[in-house]
Formats: sequence, structure tokens, C-alpha cells
Amino acid sequence: MFTRRSLIKRLSAAPFIGSWFGSSLPFATLGAALPTAAKRNVIQELGLRTFINAAGTYTAMTASLMPDEVMDTINAASKEFMMLEEVQDKVGERIAKLVHSEAAMVTAGCWSAMVLGMAGVLTGKDEKKIAQLPHLEYTGMKSQVIVQKAHNTGYVHAITNTGVMVVEIETLEEAEKAINERTAMLWFLNYAAPQGKITHEEWVALGKKHTIPTMIDIAADVPPVENLWKFNDMGFDLVCISGGKAMRGPQSAGLLMGKKDLIAAARLNGPPRGGNIGRGMKVNKEEILGMYVALERYINQDHAKEWKEWETRIAHIDTAVKKVTGVQTETFVPPIANHTPALRISWHRDQIKLSPQDLQEKLRKGNPSIEVVGGEKGTQSISLTVFMLKPGQEKIVAKRLAEELSSASA
Ligand SMILES: *Cc1c(COP(=O)(O)O)cnc(C)c1O
Repeated sequence: MFTRRSLIKRLSAAPFIGSWFGSSLPFATLGAALPTAAKRNVIQELGLRTFINAAGTYTAMTASLMPDEVMDTINAASKEFMMLEEVQDKVGERIAKLVHSEAAMVTAGCWSAMVLGMAGVLTGKDEKKIAQLPHLEYTGMKSQVIVQKAHNTGYVHAITNTGVMVVEIETLEEAEKAINERTAMLWFLNYAAPQGKITHEEWVALGKKHTIPTMIDIAADVPPVENLWKFNDMGFDLVCISGGKAMRGPQSAGLLMGKKDLIAAARLNGPPRGGNIGRGMKVNKEEILGMYVALERYINQDHAKEWKEWETRIAHIDTAVKKVTGVQTETFVPPIANHTPALRISWHRDQIKLSPQDLQEKLRKGNPSIEVVGGEKGTQSISLTVFMLKPGQEKIVAKRLAEELSSASA
């Protein structure tokens, strides 16, 4: 028997009420008949700062916001059990078709795609080798990856996680000379292509000539949408991309696309199996399915219309800030990586007494808070992008920028 008090206590435990009464009614229906507690707002509770993101898809700023279709998928998936391998199988098949690759898997970001892809190249399906990573000596595994000097950035750490070392080269001739029986892979960083001396096509041809797999990092390189299949079509054996940048999938998801055997080997180096290098790079069923829906949605959206919308937003901000005496602007589109319209705003310091860092701080501390990209050292400018804005936020950004710039006018 329940006392009145304990009954009231139990009733207030609202989420359990459905099953407690043995009712098949959904919670919402029951909830409507009972006094409901105010909806919890964790963001407010923790005093977290939220902001208008006019900076871009930066990991530190949580990169992108997931569309409703993606969240609906995540929520629906969270209510059922499935076999993780089956989710990866089915989703991988669909993704491969969409991106013109033999196979594909959802990974814990582009970084994880590179670690698992590299691991798969080294181990193949050999369980003993899988257990030995990241130790390569006396295992029979190869141990070197060739990288162009201009591509040798911090991102190579994703592949060196597996124990391989980077062999840096500049010309095709040097690359030919560097290739030996220990060469495991040729790695290419797409955004560094213009600075490198060897082209994509030459890189792929080099790999094919020596039967060495090639991998490309295209993490932030959609738009254009065609990049999703361009490098698969070109013949790269493995292509790695972030899911939570412009594609707006889960921020902790990405894609590894490529040859069937290599994807199968990559999967053996990660969850649900343990005793491997990738066990800590788990992607749950919610994110695997959410990533698939985000990819499909991204491919099917009207990219020309979206681009026009971005241009309109940039024009709105541009017009507003240029009204302030002493302000100059320049619109630009980065050729590779975050390839969307952007605006650089600069001003004469004798006309406007404000450093770029001061402006950035004032926008950050304003209401609503706004994040822009700070002026690089030695420059007198800030820059912004509009592809992560919610519709209408460009008006707020324009107003706040004009306010701060004009109030600092001499
Ligand atoms: C963002 C990025 C990564 C890492 O991608 P995640 O999806 O965050 O793991 C790797 N390489 C480049 C060039 C990037 O821009």
C-alpha cells in the first residue's frame, strides 16, 4: 500500500508514470492531464554562453547545428536496439552509392577516418597485426607514409597514431626515390594542393604504378558538393571527410570512403571489437544513422539557392558596415576548405579607435553574443562567414557591427 505522500512522490516522477499505470498511452498524452514541471533548460542551468556563429565550422565553437531531420533520426534511433555492425553495413552500402565509392563507413570524425583507414592499410584483415598496432617493428607491417612537404601539417598526426613515420618529399622525382618496400601509403591533404608540387592526378597515378594505396583528407572541403565523389572517381583508395562541418551531421561523425577491402580492414580496427587501436573511436547507432541522413539531405539540397542566400546575407552586412566612415570591406571565397562567401572588414585606426581584438571582444560580450574570426596578427581587420547563421541573424550581426564601429568613430 502507498501512503498518500508516497503516491504523490511517485506521481511527480513523471517519466515513469506510463509504465507504472501499465498504460500504453504515450507520455505526452498523460502529461497533458497532469500538472507538468517547467521544461528543463540545461543550457541556462549551467550558465553556458550561446552565440551567433559568424565565424565558421570551428570545432572549438561546436562547428555546426544539426537540422531537424538529423535530430529526428537520432531520437528515433535512440528508442530501439540494433546490432551495431548491421547499422554500419546498411548505412555504409547506401553511403557508398551516394559518393561513388566501393564501400564506406561512418567514423568518429575525419580524424578517426584517417586513423582507421591507415590502420586498415597496415593490418589488412590479419587479427594478429590488428592487435599489434601501434607497434610495427618485427611485425612484417610496413612503416612509412609519403607526404608532400606542403601537406605535412598537424593533421598527419592522425596517421602517425598508428606507428608509421612520415617521409617528406617535394617533387615527383623525390617521391619515386622515396618509395621502398616499407612504404605503406601516400597521403594527400586536399587544401594544401595549391602549395604542393605534385597534383592529385599524379599522386593517384604514382600509387597505382607502385600498387601503394593513396588517401586524401578533404575534411572541410564541401561545398562544392561534388567533392563528395570527385576524389573517389579520381581513384584515391581512401577519402576522409568531416560529417559535422558544412554537411551539418553530428559533429563527432565523419566518413571513410574507398576500396571494399580497405574499408573492411578499417572496420576491424575499431568498435565493436576491442583489442585494437580504434576502440576509443566509437560512433553510436544514433550518430551513424544521423550522419547518413545528413549526407543525403546535404546532397539533395538546392546548392545554388543556398549560395544565393549566403550572398544576400553578406551583402546585407557589407552595406550596413560600409555606412560607417573609415570602414572598408572585401568579399572573398576561400578556394578550398570552407569554400563559402566571406567578408573581411577593415578600418582606419585614426578614424575608428578600435583594435580588431577589441571589436571581437565587444561582439562576444554583447547581447546576443556574436563570434567572428579575429584579425590575424599585424592586420587591421576581422572576417566573418554566414553559412552557420540561422535565417535573419545577418541582420543582428550587421546592426551590432555598425553600432560598435560607429561608437568608436573619432
Ligand atoms: C576539421 C579537420 C580535420 C578533423 O576533422 P574532424 O571531423 O573534426 O575529426 C582533419 N583535417 C582537416 C584538414 C580539417 O579541417
